Amino acid sequence: MRFMLIFTISILCLVTGNAQINESSSLPEIEFSQLSQRDPNPLGEKALAIHSEQWKHGETEHFIYHFVHTYVATPISIEAEFHYRVVARELERDQPATDTKSHIYIFEQPQDWQQFQMFGQLEKWTGGIHSAGSLFIVRNPAYKFTDNSLGHEIVHLVLHRFYPDGIPCWLDEGLAQYVSKGAHASYQRARGYIAKPHSPAIAAQDFIPLPTLVAMTHPPSDRVETFYDESERLVRFLVLTDKASFLAVLDALGRHQPFDTALLRTYAGKFPNPTALEEKFRDYASKDFGTSLQQVDD
Ligand SMILES: [Zn+2]
Repeated sequence: MRFMLIFTISILCLVTGNAQINESSSLPEIEFSQLSQRDPNPLGEKALAIHSEQWKHGETEHFIYHFVHTYVATPISIEAEFHYRVVARELERDQPATDTKSHIYIFEQPQDWQQFQMFGQLEKWTGGIHSAGSLFIVRNPAYKFTDNSLGHEIVHLVLHRFYPDGIPCWLDEGLAQYVSKGAHASYQRARGYIAKPHSPAIAAQDFIPLPTLVAMTHPPSDRVETFYDESERLVRFLVLTDKASFLAVLDALGRHQPFDTALLRTYAGKFPNPTALEEKFRDYASKDFGTSLQQVDD
């Protein structure tokens, strides 16, 4: 609880004290040749080759944007920098060792997007494509960018900068959901809406056993929703149990240590063995299932 309070206050400070959150100023356009960095990702080149005349470019402190209309790119640039700060604050660190910026490509025409989709794998949750630290999205009301989906993708980009060698899928997706839901609710609150993060509970019969969950290298197509929800709950559970231990586990998993080794070593006083962890987490994951608490901000 104490952590959640600090988390909430820190985000509100970020929102209210941050000059980037100024929706009246547009993202300045920059000539491609004048951008501070190139994207080494070959998918970037493929994206910019689709109706190459349409693309404009811009950049902020941590991101480079490729877009068609400034009014579309501006709010995305605000959300991107906002989430960068939230993630850095959450992970309790400032900058990764390098100053590499992440590239975000914003398509507008569904047919352009269809053409591009052949090159990459859609993230089932958001409809975006996240590849090797670059993000490709389409501005399309059919996708869920009105909720925390854009934030979710941006958390992936930032995590990739801190852990360029990758982290396990459950941790990547769980953190992306956990951080972006908290940030989205704070973002809404800062604009006068009543909002709090929504963390769906898992029905007991849907629960994916921990050894299975942590071994998955991509969301299982028959249980996508459970995978995202349970991963988010696992991150939330570990953070609430002990934030410092969670950060130590994140670093250990970023160095590709096995889950059991990393977790049991770090949370030794809390979970003496994998069964103890699984039992406590199973209880936590199903807490409030089917109650009104669960639908609180649906
Ligand atoms: Zn994701």
